[in-house]
Parts: sequence; structure tokens; C-alpha cells
Amino acid sequence: MQDRYLHEVEVLRSKLRELRGGVDGKRLRQRSESEPGAGFGGSCQDSSWEPKRARDGSPGLTENLNCCYIEDTKCSSYAQHQSEPSVSHSSRLEVMHVHKPSVHRGHNTKILHFPVSSKTVIGKHSSDLHDDDDASLSSDSDFADSERTCGSGEDGDSKGEPGEDSEEDDQSVLSSLTTISNDSNTPSVVGETLGSISLSDHAHRKVIPVTSMIETKGLPGCLRMSLFSYVPPYIHFTMHDVKGEGLPAEIQRHMKWKLSTITPLVIRRTLVNSGFRLVRKSNDWCGTWGKHMKSLCFKTLKEFQKINHFPGTFQIGRKDRLWKNLYRLMTKFGKKEFGFIPRTYVLPQDSKLLRQAWEKSCGKEKWIIKPPASARGTGIKVVHRWAQIPKKRPLVVQKYISQPYLINGSKFDLRLYVLVTNINPLRIYIYDDGLVRFASVKYSSDMASLGDRYMHLTNYSINKMSSQYTQNEDATACQGHKWTVKTLWTYLEKEGVDVTALWNSLVDLVIKTIISGESSINQLTRANLVSRYCSYELFGIDVLLDETLKPWLLEVNISPSLHSSSPLDLAVKGPMVRDLLNMAGYQVPNKLLIAQQEEILSSFGVKDKTIPLCFDKRLYITALSKEERNKHSFYQQNCSREEYLEDILKHLTPDDVRHLIQSEDELTQAGRFLKIFPTTATHMYHEFFEAPRYYNMMFDAWENKYSGNRQEGIELLESLCLQKAHLVIPVPGGLTKSSASQSKTFPTSPSPPPAHEEKYETQPVVERKVQCLSSVALYRAARPRSGKFSVVLKPYPRSAYLTRKAKPSITPAKTSSSAPTNSVIEVQSSSHPTLDDHPVKEVASY
Ligand code: ADP
Repeated sequence: MQDRYLHEVEVLRSKLRELRGGVDGKRLRQRSESEPGAGFGGSCQDSSWEPKRARDGSPGLTENLNCCYIEDTKCSSYAQHQSEPSVSHSSRLEVMHVHKPSVHRGHNTKILHFPVSSKTVIGKHSSDLHDDDDASLSSDSDFADSERTCGSGEDGDSKGEPGEDSEEDDQSVLSSLTTISNDSNTPSVVGETLGSISLSDHAHRKVIPVTSMIETKGLPGCLRMSLFSYVPPYIHFTMHDVKGEGLPAEIQRHMKWKLSTITPLVIRRTLVNSGFRLVRKSNDWCGTWGKHMKSLCFKTLKEFQKINHFPGTFQIGRKDRLWKNLYRLMTKFGKKEFGFIPRTYVLPQDSKLLRQAWEKSCGKEKWIIKPPASARGTGIKVVHRWAQIPKKRPLVVQKYISQPYLINGSKFDLRLYVLVTNINPLRIYIYDDGLVRFASVKYSSDMASLGDRYMHLTNYSINKMSSQYTQNEDATACQGHKWTVKTLWTYLEKEGVDVTALWNSLVDLVIKTIISGESSINQLTRANLVSRYCSYELFGIDVLLDETLKPWLLEVNISPSLHSSSPLDLAVKGPMVRDLLNMAGYQVPNKLLIAQQEEILSSFGVKDKTIPLCFDKRLYITALSKEERNKHSFYQQNCSREEYLEDILKHLTPDDVRHLIQSEDELTQAGRFLKIFPTTATHMYHEFFEAPRYYNMMFDAWENKYSGNRQEGIELLESLCLQKAHLVIPVPGGLTKSSASQSKTFPTSPSPPPAHEEKYETQPVVERKVQCLSSVALYRAARPRSGKFSVVLKPYPRSAYLTRKAKPSITPAKTSSSAPTNSVIEVQSSSHPTLDDHPVKEVASY
């Protein structure tokens, strides 16, 4: 499976290399040699970007440079489609689709470098700018100060220890939205000495002029164009030790990054090098990297703000929740699928069960006890006597993996970095490297040694205190008590281990772990996030290998440490941070007047009207039109895989197009992250979702059709973007709104509408099933429509999800405070206005 991923990524990379070498490199070199200062943007004036060039039949620059064209079939399809009266668009677009070849900016052509015009002032450092409202940080002393207040040990995953009743893993993050929290649960730092390696010393920092980067490495400038028309560019992040070109002052003044108590130095350096301003006090920021926060706090995010968490990820980030979620799936699908987490008992609830298991093993087993929501080995002990187990406080008691795989006699665990860029559709990436952390004392299974934390625990925070701990300064060496995962693979390969199979089982573990929390995260995300733009999350997943090399999931960190106290840490985390920020896709907040935007674009030399500058909230809305809801319902209820593979892509809705373009844009930035969900092979995981998800089906179909030829998929999407299909948004009442088109769906092939279209348009439906966690979600679900609702209640404390403002006036027909998980109750909704004429059937779409 991994081969396939690697192949997929390799194909993309080679396309990008081609593009950079062949397109950007060539074009940029041309520009920089002949027109210094004009840059690539100047070439937009070249009419090769204009459709009329294509109409002339002249090859145009893009054609020479491996540009691809919309296929005949699609052209005719669109030509047909455009003849329908309901579709209106500019004559220019009509011409593009009727005449072949039509030049457009596909995968290989649409990366622009914005030149620095004489009109545009470039802020080299954030300190070049002054803003009375904000304390802008950029100097090294600022970094140092900030690091002292907020750092932690480099293994210092941040995980709050909330009160018992808390739904969240980290209460202190609450404050990160409005103030810089001082209540870090991490020790004051001495740990992160990144500055002493390379960052705090300007003299030693590599400053590579962007022009030479473009020529030598094919990197674009400060902004990276989307693959698609009418999609604003993204900020291009450089490495923590590479000074980027900087952003024009008019843009940079809006690129505020709010520091939290845990923003790691490697992130801050990356941000400053990429043109961001670091601020301590501002409500106007566009990015932040902090601890997790309560779900309701996500409601305060503005559409253009992005945070490194999804609501609800404590469902996998807390050890007790993680177990409960995986145990639920284990019960349903068996140990073969989900038996990768050691048997766990959550006290006090599971006290009796633990007692029984204990007696069964006659006290010969070893157990490990852990606080349910802590990190860095805090409060962890390996025990074997009943009396050693505290009975009164909440605790996780887990079977101890007593025969771990040893290297040089020592136990180790793996830290894998996993990026989730979207929850529904689910998109998971795994970084191709990670950390291997060794215990500093050689392992013994002797009961008498159980108290030795340097032997049984592998946390860096613990082992660095050991006199036997040795650093490993070399990222490629098998030495010391920390290795990179890549080095481990090299070592294991030499030992004759099938590393590919091992990697595949790790990927399988990761996908299933994320899916175990998907339902709750998805519900809380829908309930609390104003825009899909606002969230992404990096997880640190810890895995132990036993003597048979079976991977065991130890825990999921929702704020994995990015502290980098050694060159080895930096070698792993530096490029990872750059890649993940690029994948997260930051855009310039929409705070500039249209005229200002136009002026900036023209100062760059960009004349192409299909290139906007600022964030467009329409691209990230979650509301669906009636047709879209109907399409979702249809596929979620009625479809086999064969059926949806056959026709789910035939007519794309504007919402489909928005999702697909984001995913394709994101994939171009994956760098060393490997996409592990969705791929052509991941449909087999669909059954583990609590409910069928339309988007996952659509992406399954998309991967199936285009993973072997992404270019074709990108061209198709671009042709739709040129019609502004992605900008068609629903307005209240179920209509769609767009400046360009009132089209409901966009055919992607000349075939007649698929059978399901009629089905889902006409299906008479009277009942709607909604899964929800709380009365808030229930209220949200019920509000749009009247009718009869089936509600799936979850036995979580309602207090955590309730908001006083949103009191539903819904009378449960039958309810019970002790309702078991997934019990279905009937709820009558009578007091809410009907917005839709025809209530539709949706099964578990919430
Ligand atoms: P923390 O979040 O505090 O790091 P972990 O669950 O990761 O807690 O446990 C800390 C360390 O304890 C791990 O790195 C690993 O070495 C060891 N450990 C944890 N659980 C087990 C287990 N079930 N069997 C063997 N060792 C374990």
C-alpha cells in the first residue's frame, strides 16, 4: 500500500519538478535575466495567459511548457451545458470551452512569482512595521523572552490536566484566543536551545535570496498561486532558517500571528521568515499555534482565522477517551481490526472489570497506570500489585507490553507526526519521518526493576535526567538515545525486517485511530466552526513495537512538542513545520478594498482577472443548497460502492468543486507528508465510520478516477473554476447565489444525467435522522426544517456542550438521562419555521 502512496507522491513530485524546472525556472529565468525586477508576474501581461491566444491556435508559452488542455468530451459537455439558459457566464468563458485547444492554468502552469514593483514596499522583517495596536515581535530578544515564558522540554507535548468534569483536555488554552496565557503546564524552558543551533543568530542563519531559490530550487516567491482560477493565492512558507522574500507592507500589516504560550521557536522562525508579524495582543490575527481549547471557544473564530486544532480532538487526545472510542470499534469489528491498543481500564468506572482481570491473571501481569490526560510521563508507573493502584482518583490502568522490541537491549517508542487537514471529508497525511525515543537503561523483565522509570518509560523528559542518557547530534546516525524514524528503518532493514509491511501496519493503525474520533470531531466541528478554513491539526502519535514488531498504540498527542533542542530534532521538525503550514493553506485576510487589491496585483504586474488576492469566504462555507443536500442524502442512503464510483462525479455540485480544489491545492504542498486517506485503497475503512459520509465516497471516487492521472482531474476542476462553479453558494431558502451562474450541478461528462439525479430530486421523504451530541446540535439540526426527527443521543455530559443562548424549544417524545449510546429517540419539532418546501431525508448527516 505504501508503495502506492509513495508512487503517487513521486508522480506528483516529478510533475512539480517538471513544472518548477520547466516552467517556473525557465520563465523566471527569462524574466530575471531580461527584465530585472519584473519577475514572473510580468509575464502575465504576456497574452499567452489569455484565452484568445488559444483561440488563435497559437501554441502559447504554456503549450510549450507541457500545458494540458480540456479534452474534447469535456469541451462538448460544457458547451452543451452552457447552452442551457440557467447557466450564465462571461463570453470569454464560453469561448474557452468551445474552442480547442483552450489554454488555462493547470497543474503545470499556474505558479506565479510576484515581483517586487517599485510601488510596493516590502517589509523585510515584521519589526520594519509599526502597529500601535499590536506588540509585534521579531527580534531575537523577543524570541528569547517569549521562549522563556512559554517553552517546555523538547519532548514536552502539551496536554492540560483538566478537572474531572471537563470535556476538554486542556483548559488553559481557553485563554489563548484573547490573551497570552501564563498558566502553561509546561516547565519553563531551558530545553529548547534551537536558538543556539541556528535560529537566534542572524549571522548564522542562511539568507537565500528568493530569486536564486527559484532558479536553483524552483521555489516560488512569497505567495503561491492556487492551481485554480478565482482562488486566491496562499502564503508560501519557507524554512525556519531560510529568509523568504517578504510580503509587501500593505499585505504584511494584516498577516498577524498571535503567539500563545506554546508557540515553538521553529514555528516562530518559519513565520517571520515567511512574512508574518508575531503579535501578543490582537483580536485581528489570522493564525495561531496553541493548546487545544474548549469546543465552544471555536465559535469565536472569524472566518479568516486559522487554528491548529479541531473541536473535539480530545476524544482521541485523552487516554481514557481514546480507549473508549477504540474499544467501541473493537467490540463491533473485532480485535483483528482494532486490537492495536493494549487492554485498558478507566477507573473508577471499570474497577470491577479490572479486579476480575487481575484475579484471572493471578497477579502475574504487569500493568501501567497513567493519569487520563497528561503528558511527558507525568504520574506514570509500572505496577504488579493491586495495592499499588490508587482507587480514588481517575486513572487509566493499561496492560503493560512487557516484551518490547529491543535495540541494543533498550526499549524505545516511535513518535509519528500525523496531519489532518479536514474532518469531513477526512484527509489524513503522515510525515515520512519521526522520532525514536530510547529508554536510557537497558531493559529487564524482572519484577524488581519495575520502579525504574529510566528502563520502562521512553519519554525524553524523563530520560534526559538519567546520567546514562546520551544525545544524538546526528540525524542519520544510529547512536545515542534518540534516532529519527528513517534511521530506524535503515537499521531494521539491515536486521532483515520487512520495513514496508511494518510501515503499512503503522499507517493502518493511524487511520483507524483517527476514524475512532471522527464522529465526535465532525459533530463538534459542524456545531462550532464558522468556516472550513479555520482548522487543521497536527497529531503526535506514539507507538511501541513488541518483540514480534506488532505496533501498539500508546497515545495521541494533540499538541505534540515541536521544540527542537538538538540538530536531530530540528532536522525532523523544521521541514515538517514548513510543509504543514503550506498544506494548511493560509491566505491574505480580506481586509483590503477591491481597489487596493487591484492596485497591489497590478503593482505585481498581474493583469489576469482570474487571480484574486484576498481570502474568499465562499470557498470554505459549509452550508449546502437543497440540491447538494439531496445529493448527499441519496448517496449516503442508497449507494453501493460500485454505484457511487460509477456516477457520483458525473454531476459535480459547487460544494463538490470547492472540496476538490482545496484537496488538490493541498496535495501540491504535501512535501514529505504522505497522503494516507483518502487513497484508492482506503474505501475499506469506510465501514468503520459511524455513518456513511458522502464526501468520503466522493473522494474515493475521485481518487479512483484521477489518482493515476491527477492532471486530468485538475484540468476538469479548472474548467469548472473558469465558470466560477466553486463560487456558487447557497442562500437561505435553498437557492444558490453566484455572480456567474445559477447552475445547480456541473456535468463532468457528456453522458445523460445519472439515474440517481432523478431519484434524489423526487424522493418523497418524511423523516430525518440526525446524530447529535447535545441540545445545541439538536437545535441546529431541527431549526432549518419542520417534521419528525430521529435523534441519536450520546451519553456525554450535556453541560459541556450546552450554551445558554441556544435553548431548543423541542419536546423530546421519549428521552432518558441514562440513554445508552446510540439509542434512538423520537423528537417532534413543531415550533420551528419551515425554510424548505420539501423536507428531505438525511441519515446521520450531522
Ligand atoms: P505520556 O503521555 O505521559 O507520555 P504514554 O502513554 O506515552 O504517556 O506513556 C509514557 C511511556 O510509558 C511511553 O513512552 C512508553 O515507554 C511507556 N508505556 C506507556 N504505555 C505502555 C504500555 N502499555 N506498555 C509498555 N510501555 C508503555
